[in-house]
Amino acid sequence: SPLSNLAVRDIETVLHPYTNLATHRDTGPMVLERGQGIYVYDSSGKEYIEGMAGLWCTALGYGNEELVEAAASQMRRLSFSHLFAGKSHDPGIELAEKLKAIAPNEASKVFFVNSGSEANDTQIKLVWYYNNALGRPNKKKIIARTRGYHGVTVAAASLTGLPANHTDFDLPIANILHTDCPHPYRGMEAGESEEDFASRMAASLDELIQREGPDTVAAFIAEPVMGAGGVIIPPKTYYEKIKAVLDKHDVLFIDDEVICGFGRLGTMFGAEAMGMKPHTVSVAKALSSAYLPIGAVIIDDPMYQATVDESRKIGTFGHGYTYSGHPVAAAVAVKTLEIYERDDIVGQVNSVSPTFKKRLDAIGEHPLTGQARGLGLIGALELVADKATKRPFDSKKGVGARVAAFAEEEGLILRAMAGDIVALCPPLVISESEVDEMFDRLGRALDRAEAWVGSENLRA
Ligand code: PLP
Repeated sequence: SPLSNLAVRDIETVLHPYTNLATHRDTGPMVLERGQGIYVYDSSGKEYIEGMAGLWCTALGYGNEELVEAAASQMRRLSFSHLFAGKSHDPGIELAEKLKAIAPNEASKVFFVNSGSEANDTQIKLVWYYNNALGRPNKKKIIARTRGYHGVTVAAASLTGLPANHTDFDLPIANILHTDCPHPYRGMEAGESEEDFASRMAASLDELIQREGPDTVAAFIAEPVMGAGGVIIPPKTYYEKIKAVLDKHDVLFIDDEVICGFGRLGTMFGAEAMGMKPHTVSVAKALSSAYLPIGAVIIDDPMYQATVDESRKIGTFGHGYTYSGHPVAAAVAVKTLEIYERDDIVGQVNSVSPTFKKRLDAIGEHPLTGQARGLGLIGALELVADKATKRPFDSKKGVGARVAAFAEEEGLILRAMAGDIVALCPPLVISESEVDEMFDRLGRALDRAEAWVGSENLRA
């Protein structure tokens, strides 16, 4: 169909993130115009279930008037103030108190940022600052994981373990290393139990730290469940084993809760679901249900005490963004957290997740699906050419992208990721019947993709 006027204007002016700009010139964008609940509508009026909660973030869905009102009233009262050099404001204080009360670490202080990338960038600086304060400036290396996603600033992209974020950018920067991705479906060896696999992952981390020298390794960062790397759920005992290695070498544990935080896995934080015991925590996205950009880093007391040590020559943590703790974003986040508590968002996730899991398991039987995995209200299908051998499709054929395209035609927004993995991460306020509707649409998309795979002979 011919491109709309908006699509033509987009192609002429907008440089899109994560977009094949050459094909974009032909296909144009999906221009979204409005949203309500779990639904969004494009400029032609077509309705979609937002099966990805935007970018894993619109937890309370669209059109929430309480959040609109929280923003408007704060804008009227004090549209801007900041937290630099001793200034403060009440939405910032209230938000810090709320986060401190619920955080999954032994929380002491909260540092505000505008995004997940900035949160993880700040983590790196805090870890370096901390080790400098403790008089061990050589303890600088940070270990992330292959396929982990931690953002795209130069430092956060270095933590990210995906080739697309490194190639052509000369990344990662020095002092950032990657250890194995704990992906049971692809990583477990024949005859290996999940427990043995977890032990092997921990042993591999231990080896890396020994090889680099424990005196040079400062921190390890992990998402409880990896999101953008393919919704990867590690074995049950993985984090317990990892933590033992970290403790042995005095290495800090950074928990990236940017996707898993605030109910996504059926617990307030992913750390609780996965048995993680972090020192410091990054949050963003669902912190404000994505109504405004805001994130935070929540540190423990030893980290705080080291950074305020008065014997240090530089007693100022020289870091912060103009909009760190922007009062309007903070007011929206305070209201978001109030709603999560009042409406028992964790209970809501646990009441619909059995239906989500049942439908996900059923779709795992589809001929295209090698594995369907999920926890709480996040899930993914890993599409394969051969279910028995797990043989992937030729990556150039774009089978995952084709499923996402058929899903859009069926009225469902999904995300296709590297490895023909298709993610599902709906707003947490989704009802049981909406979960059913989402999977009905997904099923129709998969059937159409299966027919296309057959007609193109892609299993040959
Ligand atoms: N960390 C995780 C786990 C994420 O999923 C993301 C974004 O998807 C980020 C960090 C980066 O967040 P942002 O895009 O807000 O910079």
